[in-house]
This record gives sequence, structure tokens and C-alpha cells, in this order.
Amino acid sequence: LDKDDPVLKTRGLEKAFGGLVATDDVSIEIERGTITGMIGPNGAGKSTLFNLISGFYEADAGSVFVNQTDVSDMTPPERAHEGLVRTFQTPRRLEGMSVREAMLVGPGPQTGESIFPLFFSADDVTREERANLEQAEELLERFEISHLIDQPSTDLSGGQLKLVELARAFTTNPDILLLDEPVAGVNPTLANDIKRFIRELNEEGQTFLIIEHDMPFIMDLADPIIVLDQGRVLMEGSPKEVRTDDRVIEAYLGG
Ligand code: ADP
Ligand code: MG
Repeated sequence: LDKDDPVLKTRGLEKAFGGLVATDDVSIEIERGTITGMIGPNGAGKSTLFNLISGFYEADAGSVFVNQTDVSDMTPPERAHEGLVRTFQTPRRLEGMSVREAMLVGPGPQTGESIFPLFFSADDVTREERANLEQAEELLERFEISHLIDQPSTDLSGGQLKLVELARAFTTNPDILLLDEPVAGVNPTLANDIKRFIRELNEEGQTFLIIEHDMPFIMDLADPIIVLDQGRVLMEGSPKEVRTDDRVIEAYLGG
């Protein structure tokens, strides 16, 4: 593993829905150790690109590389094994599970479709749980939610659920973590906590790619920022470059 290699790279990604081109020749590289932001007006293709990168959608054309490995033909769980893990904009209720159990089965389903555990069958969970309990407890502590460990997930607030999702994503030590709107619908206090957690983890080397509508949040946290518009990369730059770019202003005003 070469530290200078991009942790994530796409080449010529394409995706159309009927006649609508949602992802149009997208080639990006995410440098290891960065918090890279992804912004763009509604319908710009941000979520579609995340779905292509994580393998939730099949691309019409193009490739995805994780640590220089071509993962284009891999399933979402296989991509997670290669080091690429995502969270969803709307965390699913962790059906029937307590927070402890949710932590022990690892990140939420990488397809977003079912609650079926990603890495272990239901039987394996029992076998693996002792080995992972300590790590699960550490992660919950780090996200300041260790008091919730015995809570049924149905009792969690939306914000608490987001934190559990974040903690679960780290149970596999991802090389790159994709967050889809981590502070959408989250109160300002908790949003600040999430910002602090992301910063701390980044200072320890964790790479992030983050879609976020909350401009002050993402401008404060991320560098560089990739701007998408109408399925294409409009520009990439520092928060300051993005803020002052006429094309970006126009894309938002025109959208
Ligand atoms: P963003 O996340 O930037 O708001 P999306 O990636 O969700 O944008 O959507 C980009 C475009 O693709 C939109 O026009 C949207 O309606 C369309 N789109 C996204 N997903 C689907 C889908 N599953 N079926 C049909 N059209 C879709
Ligand atoms: Mg979206």
C-alpha cells in the first residue's frame, strides 16, 4: 500500500436513468488522509455517485478503484472488505437489535435494502461477539454513547441513531468512509459533536468523503471540496476557491 496512491479513484463513471444522465463521465481521486467534501444543487447526482462508488448501483460505464484495486465488479460487502464503507442519509432502524448487537454485526447493510448483517451470518455473530465486544465498547465511548449500549434501537432518537451508524461503520477499520449527509436533521449541538468526532478521527489518519447540504458545516470541515452539477464534476478546490467560483454560484442560483 503506497501512501501516495489515492485511497479512492473513479474513472469515467456513467449512469443514466432512462434518458436522464445522472452521472456523466465522473473521474475523481480522493487523497489519503483528507476530509473531502461533495456538494452540488439538488439533483446534481451526489447520491447516485455514492451509490456507484459503493456498488449499490451498477455503472453503465467506468471504473472504481480502492487502494488501486479495481472493485468495479464487486458487491458492496466485497468493497467494504477492500476498505470502502458508507453510511446512509437516513439510518435504518436496527430491527430488533440493541445497540450492542448492532455494533457486533458491523456496519449496516451496504446495500441499504435489508438489515441482513454484512460480515457474519446470524450464527457467526454469536461466535464473533466476544472478540469484538471490547472494540464495540471503545467505539461507543469515543462517540460518547456508551450509556446506550443496552438500549433497544427502537428507543433511540434520530441523532443517537446517526451516532450508532457512525460507530458501526468503524468496526471494520475502513480506509475510506463515505458519509451521506451526516448532519441532515440533526440538532446544532449534535452536529457540532459529529464535526468534532470526524476531525479527531481524521487527525488520526481516517479518510472521509462527505456529501453535505449544510454549507457552513462542510466548508468548515472539508478540504478539498468537489462540486457536482448535472452529473458532472464542475470543479474541485479549497472551500475558499469553491465559495468564490462564479460557476458554482451560477449552478446554485440556476438550480
Ligand atoms: P443529489 O443527491 O445530488 O440530489 P441524485 O443523485 O439523487 O442527486 O439524483 C440525480 C438525478 O438522478 C436526479 O434527476 C434524480 O431524479 C435521478 N435519479 C436518482 N436516482 C434515480 C433512480 N433510482 N431512478 C430514476 N432516477 C433517479
Ligand atoms: Mg442526495
